[in-house]
Amino acid sequence: MTEVRDPASFKKYISPLKPIWCPGCGDYAVLTSLAKAFAELNLPTDSTAVITGIGCSSRLPGYLNTYGFNSIHGRAIPIATGLKVSRPDVNVIVAGGDGDMFAIGGGHMAHVVRRNVDMTLLVMDNNIYGLTKGQASPTTPLGTKTLTSAYGSISTPINTLRVMLGYNCSFIAQASSTDPVHMTKMIVEAIKHPGFSYVNLLSPCVTYRGKEQYQMIKEGSIYLEAGYDPSDGIAAWKLLNANDGKYPMGVIYKDTRPAYGTKVDELRNAATTGKEFKIEDEVKLFQP
Ligand code: SF4
Repeated sequence: MTEVRDPASFKKYISPLKPIWCPGCGDYAVLTSLAKAFAELNLPTDSTAVITGIGCSSRLPGYLNTYGFNSIHGRAIPIATGLKVSRPDVNVIVAGGDGDMFAIGGGHMAHVVRRNVDMTLLVMDNNIYGLTKGQASPTTPLGTKTLTSAYGSISTPINTLRVMLGYNCSFIAQASSTDPVHMTKMIVEAIKHPGFSYVNLLSPCVTYRGKEQYQMIKEGSIYLEAGYDPSDGIAAWKLLNANDGKYPMGVIYKDTRPAYGTKVDELRNAATTGKEFKIEDEVKLFQP
């Protein structure tokens, strides 16, 4: 894959609306990287949709020239699922923050993974609720002082990569706003994946987590080497457990099970023709 060098090729995906994110917010890099990924894949603006919930990151659809829906808190996944199932020709991207997706919307995650709906989820993870002015989120590190944890957070944060691997998500990757070129590559890979893809984007909140978040991510990043095999689920599990305190960057896991839409088509065909409908058990991770 080559880096997109012609600014005009990605700028057509950016809307004239000026972002109102704080200066230095990591979400600016996500916006540009996403537009570059769209340009790399040459996605038509009229058959691409970005669906979000509520939060700073969820302003994303307004800043893009694609279709979009800044929906309701925690409910972007079911809305996007409905869109993809009814309009399989549309490229569907879901985006949101760590709180929106793993607290309020957390219950939807297991089911979109089970179905393997062919869409991409981008979680702009800054370990805090930014829009509502700095409350502890599901990924806030232990001991962090926030608006709701004046003496330091006493709740163990969740590792969303492990959560998604445990659910058997068919594509898991991580990137960060400290490296937008790598972020574009990961988004491209995720969109190309025929099934549900999850990319955790470490996107600093300079206002409520401080500029040090950039430094922390840079120092903790470990890029996966060329020899790493993302189809090996056990290796992925070991990686996510071995690197506590570190951030593995790259495609961590992927498999090739059929996407939900394919199964729906086969099921519909069987129901209308009377042909046998076979369900293959292709998922090997954690199964005997
Ligand atoms: Fe970004 Fe944080 Fe400002 Fe929200 S509050 S725009 S996440 S820096």
